[in-house]
Amino acid sequence: MEFKKIILGCLVLILFTCKQKIHVNNEVIAPKNVILLIGDGTGLSQISSAFYFKETTPNYARFKHIGLIITSSSKQDITDSAAGATAFACGIKTYNGAIGVADDSTDVKNLIEIISSENIKSGLISTSSITHATPAAFYAHNISRNSAEEIALDLVQSDVDFFAGGGTGFFNKRKDGKNILNELKEKGFSIDTTALSDVSILQSYSKAAYLLADNAMPRISEGRGDFLSKATELAIQFLSKDENNSNFFMMVEGSQIDWGGHANDGLYLVSELIDFDDAIGKALDFAEQDGNTLVIVTADHETGGFTLASTTKKTEDGKEYSDYNEISMTFSTNGHSAALVPVFAYGPGSEEFTGIYENTGIFDKILRVTNWRKEN
Ligand code: MG
Ligand code: ZN
Repeated sequence: MEFKKIILGCLVLILFTCKQKIHVNNEVIAPKNVILLIGDGTGLSQISSAFYFKETTPNYARFKHIGLIITSSSKQDITDSAAGATAFACGIKTYNGAIGVADDSTDVKNLIEIISSENIKSGLISTSSITHATPAAFYAHNISRNSAEEIALDLVQSDVDFFAGGGTGFFNKRKDGKNILNELKEKGFSIDTTALSDVSILQSYSKAAYLLADNAMPRISEGRGDFLSKATELAIQFLSKDENNSNFFMMVEGSQIDWGGHANDGLYLVSELIDFDDAIGKALDFAEQDGNTLVIVTADHETGGFTLASTTKKTEDGKEYSDYNEISMTFSTNGHSAALVPVFAYGPGSEEFTGIYENTGIFDKILRVTNWRKEN
C-alpha cells in the first residue's frame, strides 16, 4: 500500500514538473516582434522564378519552416486580395471585395486593433496605394475595397504607427475637399510626401507616414528603386527605437507581383518578385541579429496561373518539341487561381507555420505564438 502511494506520488511529481516545463518553454519561445511579408499573387512558380532569374541566392532559401495555405474566400474558390488580406488581418473568411468586414457586412476586429491595446506598435508598407486592398484590411472596415477615400479616413483614425506607400491623392485630393494629411499631423505624424528619410529625423516623433505617389508607387522598371527594402529597414528602426516599448507588428507588401500576373507580363512579374525578395532579406537580417522576431512570408493567392514552362520549338522538318534548356514564362489566366500558396517562417514560433491549413490560420498562429491576445 505504502509502496503504491510512493509510486503515485512520484507520478504526480513527474506530471507536475512536465507541465511546468512546457509552460516555461512556451514563454521562452514567444516572439517580441512579427514581420509579415505578403507577396500579392505569389504562388510557387513566382517564387521559383527567383531561383532562375535572380543573380544572387534568393532570400526565400533562408527559411527552414515551410507550409501551404488554402486561399479560398467564404463564397468563392478563388479569392481576391481584399478577402485574402481580411483572412490574415482579422482571422475570418469573407466575400471577395470585403475589407475587414464579415459576410454580413459587420466590422471584425483586426490584428492591429487587438495589439494596439497591448501597447504593441504597428507598421504597414506597400508598393501600391496604402489604401489598396491588402494593406487596407489591416486597419479599415469597408464593404468595398473600391472606397479608397473612406479607407484613407479609417487609416487616419487607426492606431497604425508607421506607414509607407503610395496614395497621397486619397488624402489631399478628395471629393469631399478635405486634406486629411492635416488630421494625420494633428495625431503627431511626421509626414513626408517626397522621399523616405533617415530614422534620425523621426527621433522626436511617435508616428511616421510616407506617401510617395498619388496612387500606386511606380514599377521597379519605371524607377521605384529600393523603396521596399529601404522602407522595411526604416520601419524596423523606427518601431524599435524606444527601448522600453519596442515590440511591433509589421506588414510589408510586394503589391505589384500580382499586377505582373494580371498583365501576363513575365518580366514585370519577375522584377517585382526579386524586389520583394530583397525586402525579405532585410527582415531576415534584422530577425537573425535580434533573435526575438518572427518573420512570415506568404501570399494572398496566386495570380496568372504562372508557369515556368519548357520552350516549344520546331525541328527543321516542322515537328514541335519541348526545349528543356530554355524556360518560357507562360500564363493560363488574366485573373487569380485557386492554387495553394506557400508560407515561409523564421524565428521563434516558426515551427507553428508548417503543414497545410486555411489562410485564416496565419492570424490565429500569430496571436497564439505571441500571446498578444489577452482578452478571452
Ligand atoms: Mg495587394
Ligand atoms: Zn490581383
